This record gives sequence, C-alpha cells and structure tokens, in this order.
Amino acid sequence: TLKGKVAVITGSTSGIGLATARVLAQNGADIMLHGLMSQQDGEALASELASEFGVKVCFDDADMRDPAATKALLERTVAKLGSVDILVNNAGIQHTETVDNFPEQKWHDIIAINLSAAFFTTQKALPVMKKKGWGRIVNIASVHGLVGSVKKSAYCAAKHGIVGLTKVTALENADQGITVNAICPGWVNTPILQAQVDDMAASKGIDKETAKRALVTTKQPLPEMMEPSQIGELILFLCSDAARSITGASLPIDGAWTAQ
Ligand code: NAD
Repeated sequence: TLKGKVAVITGSTSGIGLATARVLAQNGADIMLHGLMSQQDGEALASELASEFGVKVCFDDADMRDPAATKALLERTVAKLGSVDILVNNAGIQHTETVDNFPEQKWHDIIAINLSAAFFTTQKALPVMKKKGWGRIVNIASVHGLVGSVKKSAYCAAKHGIVGLTKVTALENADQGITVNAICPGWVNTPILQAQVDDMAASKGIDKETAKRALVTTKQPLPEMMEPSQIGELILFLCSDAARSITGASLPIDGAWTAQ
C-alpha cells in the first residue's frame, strides 16, 4: 500500500498520467494532479478522484515550458500535501516533421517539456526524498528513448536524454533508498497520438480505427495499442518494496518493438 505517500504525476489530466494517478490513488497515495486544464475542470477532476479513492488530491496547472513554474509545482506539492515521495515525470508533447523542416519553437518546447522539466522536478524532489531515506522517481521515456523513428527528431532527442538523466540520477542516489527508472512504452492509446492517427487516415483514405491499427503495426510486433493503465500498473510495481533493487533501468513495455 502507498498510504501516507505523496505522488506528484506531471501531465496527469489525460492519458498515461491520469491512468497512473488513478492506480496510485487506488493504492492509497495522495496525489498532486497536474496538467494543462482550467483550474475549474482540474479541481473537479481532483475532487472526483479524492472521493472515489478516499485520498487527498490537489490540482496544479504549471506550464512546464517554464522552469520557474515547474520548480514551483514541486514546492506547492510539499506545501499542500506535506511531501514528495513518488515523482512521475510524464508530461509530454509530440510534433512530427523532418529535421530540415522542423519548426524551431517546437524543438524548444519539446526539449523543455519532455526533458528539461524532468530535471527541474528531480532537483526539487531529491532533497525531500533524501531526508526521508525513501523515494521513487519514474520517468516516462518511450521506445524513442532507445531507438529512432523518422520525423521525430526533437522527441527522440528528448527521450534519449531522459534515459541518460535517469541513469545519472540513479547512480548518484543508489545508497539513499531512492530508485530512479525510465519506462519506455510503445504505442499507448491516448490523445497524444491523434495527429498521427489523423495523418494516417487521410493519407490512406481509411477510418480512424483502422488507421490506429495500421499505425501500431508499422513498428510494433504485438498488433494492438496498450491501455494507459498498463503503464500505471508498472509504475505501481516500481513503487513497491519488491522493486527496490531496480534502479537506473530503462524498461521497455513495447510489444517487442525494440527486440528487433
Ligand atoms: P496526453 O496528450 O494524453 O497527455 C499529456 C499530458 O501532458 C497532459 O496532461 C497535458 O496537459 C500535459 N502537458 C502537455 N503540455 C504541457 C505543458 N506545456 N505544461 C504542462 N503540462 C503539459 O499524452 P500521453 O500519451 O498520456 O503522454 C504521456 C507521456 O507518455 C508523454 O511523455 C509521452 O511522450 C509518453 N509516451 C506516450 C506514448 C503513447 O503512445 N501514447 C508512448 C510512449 C511514451
């Protein structure tokens, strides 16, 4: 059980982050819910989770393109919930374009949100975790932290970066009761894929459900998208005592994508 633990999950208003918030809350953790959502909708979602699982849930809409806002998210988590025991760096965006045509601002945004934000949250969380002698940091990388794909230069650069950050943070804190791991999912059924599904549907003249399946099988031997809760369940395991020796790892959950 995670009773008495505080989990901050960035980008938890949607997709993998929201599914993870639900799994950790169900197991007793208090939750800092975070993402780009109106204060009103965020607070409604927070109170829905709080009453469903009987835990404390707060909401924060810090924009992770901004390092100061990102650090403040961690400060507010400690102020409102009393600690940070579990940090899940999950917020992320995607943009697909060839290197030579890639928009400069998109490059900066993807590096800021998908990579640098995790560095700033980690900097703020470590002193709190060290004081307690216990902590779990889980960075949501991607198969694109391990291999490349066309039109994903910024995303692959950020995700490979997250894998490196994970290793160093794990090494520096291996004797502190803190584990630091990256999870590397293949295709997960969430809104981040919508633009790619739409492009596939338009270019092949097929419906969106067929396009989703076509997209998955371009890369992933297991021919179905994962559900976001499957990532949440792996994070729950990494938070357990049984997983205390797993640190510095980058764990694929990718239907054999990177086995090729
Ligand atoms: P999603 O679009 O459903 O969720 C993204 C979350 O990030 C949302 O809560 C959103 O509000 C937040 N976010 C976006 N921009 C932000 C900003 N500027 N500041 C603060 N928060 C911001 O997508 P998802 O698929 O659940 O993605 C979660 C993570 O999983 C991402 O890091 C993504 O790269 C990774 N991932 C996804 C897949 C997949 O197939 N869906 C595969 C591998 C890795």
